[in-house]
Amino acid sequence: MTDLAIDIKDLHKTYGGTKKSPPKQALQGVSLAIPRGRIFGLLGPNGAGKSTLINIMAGLVTKTSGGVRIWGFDQDENPRQSRAAIGVMPQELNLDPFFTPRASLEVQAGLYGVPKAKRQSDEILRLIGLEDKAHSYARALSGGMRRRLLLGKALVHSPNILVLDEPTAGVDIELRQMLWNNVRKLNEDGMTIILTTHYLEEAQEMCDEIAIMDNGKVRAQDSTANMLSRLDAKTMIVMPGTPVGALALPDGVTLDHRRDGSIAMTYSRSVISADQILDCLRQAGVTIQDIRTKEADLEDVFLSLTAA
Ligand code: ADP
Ligand code: MG
Repeated sequence: MTDLAIDIKDLHKTYGGTKKSPPKQALQGVSLAIPRGRIFGLLGPNGAGKSTLINIMAGLVTKTSGGVRIWGFDQDENPRQSRAAIGVMPQELNLDPFFTPRASLEVQAGLYGVPKAKRQSDEILRLIGLEDKAHSYARALSGGMRRRLLLGKALVHSPNILVLDEPTAGVDIELRQMLWNNVRKLNEDGMTIILTTHYLEEAQEMCDEIAIMDNGKVRAQDSTANMLSRLDAKTMIVMPGTPVGALALPDGVTLDHRRDGSIAMTYSRSVISADQILDCLRQAGVTIQDIRTKEADLEDVFLSLTAA
């Protein structure tokens, strides 16, 4: 038995290729193994292929070639089981305006063959904070409420894996907080979570493992901590009390005189210590009016991997 939630091998997807639409290679040989139990982040710039990958996992888009196993089930050999193992909160708002939230959940449960006695519509409405809107029409819901309903719909068949495609793009802080609380709770209860987000800070905070996609390929996959330690660069920014003359800094330190009069020194923390740099500054008679340091963050990793 495999202990992977998702196991994808050499996945390709080409859209179009007809007279009307030229072929577009959205996925160019993606291989990805996602262990069970994680909160996994799929990051990448617009057009990288994240939604295509997610929609193929969910059985909403047909692949061109490659292997997809969901919770151990091959998508081609066991389409029913592999579909039952995954629930997707899509990027697009696709709700029937004439259904009430409760009806939406019931219809979705019906589509997944969940018997009436096993449906959890009321529990789900409570989880997403829509109990008091259970019988309003979807068209009367705010954007944030509709997003929450999409989350609810992804949960009707109690999937092992919950996939969220840009769940917090353009939502307010309150809803974002609520979504993350829900996601953390579902994960603590054993659900594997896969999400895409544009907010790298959010991925850094939420995800224990991350893959970075660009141009239809996976560029890197690692634990968030390892991903961050890849970038060893640190920058010390000093605002001197008096003008700075010549400086003899250790080898490997890049010095940048900034327009505001500060000096920025970038170095590898594994090779040079902050102390060494401060010693050099003292020896050169530099007085320090203000000092701060900047660590590499996910944004830097991301840029270093996706820069053309
Ligand atoms: P992401 O979610 O990372 O922004 P997508 O998977 O949506 O990326 O898109 C990947 C590429 O495939 C983009 O170039 C996009 O324009 C193209 N694409 C996505 N869906 C379709 C489609 N239905 N038909 C043609 N091209 C598509
Ligand atoms: Mg997308």
